[in-house]
Amino acid sequence: MAPVSQHVRESLQEIFGDRVRTDRVERKMYSFDIGTMPRLVKPVVPAGLAGAAVRPQSEAEVVALLELASRLSVAVVPRGWATSGYGGVLPRAGAVVADMSGMNRILALDHANMTVTVEPSAIWQDIDRELAKDGLTLRLYPSSTPSSGAAGWLAQGGAGFGSFEYGTFKENVVSARVVLPGGQVREFAGSDLERYVADAEGITGVITQLTFRIRALEPEVHHLFAFPDARSLAMMLADVSRAELPLWSVTFLNPASVSLKKQLPHRHGHPYEEAHPHVEPQLPESYLAVVAYPESRMPEIDERLEEIVRIHGGIDLGPEAAEHEWEMRFSPIRLKRIGPSLVPTEVVVPLESLADVLAEIDARIRQPFILEGMHAKGDRIVLLGFIPHDERLFAFNLAFALSLSVIRIAKQHGGSAYSTGLYFRREAQSVLGPERV
Ligand SMILES: Cc1cc2nc3c(=O)[nH]c(=O)nc-3n(C[C@H](O)[C@H](O)[C@H](O)COP(=O)(O)OP(=O)(O)OC[C@H]3O[C@@H](n4cnc5c(N)ncnc54)[C@H](O)[C@@H]3O)c2cc1C
Repeated sequence: MAPVSQHVRESLQEIFGDRVRTDRVERKMYSFDIGTMPRLVKPVVPAGLAGAAVRPQSEAEVVALLELASRLSVAVVPRGWATSGYGGVLPRAGAVVADMSGMNRILALDHANMTVTVEPSAIWQDIDRELAKDGLTLRLYPSSTPSSGAAGWLAQGGAGFGSFEYGTFKENVVSARVVLPGGQVREFAGSDLERYVADAEGITGVITQLTFRIRALEPEVHHLFAFPDARSLAMMLADVSRAELPLWSVTFLNPASVSLKKQLPHRHGHPYEEAHPHVEPQLPESYLAVVAYPESRMPEIDERLEEIVRIHGGIDLGPEAAEHEWEMRFSPIRLKRIGPSLVPTEVVVPLESLADVLAEIDARIRQPFILEGMHAKGDRIVLLGFIPHDERLFAFNLAFALSLSVIRIAKQHGGSAYSTGLYFRREAQSVLGPERV
């Protein structure tokens, strides 16, 4: 695929100066995200080589870009930090990729209303560091916090640490400024924001600013519990929900995940790991739940939580193991070192069918299946699964199909795919509902 025409390139240069790229190598680099698309899948995904990449630094530049694109009939694809992995940032052949990573500032803190306003690609970790200086923190964040941005999470949709109390990110966004495809700027809030901007993968416009709710920073308690099987874990989660324990975050992993982490090879020669040799605590290979809440809530939670865990055969693995798992919460894909590739799949299921879904995944996916789960407000459970594999092998194509099997299992139990992106665009009905599609 050739780059954009000379006329388009020159028009882009008038807006962006030297922040326009049309050489083949850069266009190729902007035609990937963090995932690996198997060779057999490529022909059925409408993605190709970008025609150009530009790097806006202001809303005015985004407006100029979209006016130009509309006038010259050029497709534009917004790209944050490209960590979403399901093809949301992949351009169709010849499209202009708008690399929004240059717009990453934290703009304003509103103490009275407990909100923060940021540019679209402000990175979660940077935002949280800034908030901490004022005794504040994020209500929720994804496990990609060190490397992903705010608008990407709104546009891709999703749950993270803190979703037990605060739900999905979109439920915490007050407003977003969006440049629409013709170049008009509109501020979205409330149900319009949830309907047209959230989960839309950037197809309804380019977000240039967003304001969302934050909370007070408090010392936090972390627990790590082991359960004999998936059913006991699911029953514990149901009881926690029924008892309305004011927890902040509840996540879990499966035995395969614990077992594979123990086999992780040491990264010889890696300067950080050589200086800080990493020792995994001896965790049991069972279902593990990680629970977090502010220390101030201990009197309401501690005894009741302990009792619920005990009733369902759970064991508290102690503070040292809990702190270790908590510290490792931003490294879910370190298991890639075993792969060397990972086939990802992600679904949302109702809590009441969690045990059945996990049993069926175990029975039908006859490969090591690393599973991380998040319990979100409203008893929705997000299941993120990885199958370690090797993208150089033909069998990688077949393993990729298993991600669709997991989505099928979820749907049979009242669930859906997690998000769309080009890979799962056919799941848009189940993710967004027919009206929003
Ligand atoms: C290790 C790891 C852990 C993760 N953990 C979680 C998790 O816990 N929960 C979760 O939900 N997800 C998770 N993700 C997925 C991903 O990190 C999040 O969705 C993230 O917030 C995306 O941010 P990004 O800046 O990388 O967006 P990108 O991947 O760049 O973009 C995502 C989508 O948003 C659109 N977009 C980006 N910027 C804009 C903009 N300015 N305007 C309009 N549309 C835009 C893109 O077109 C694309 O469709 C994880 C990913 C990895 C690799």
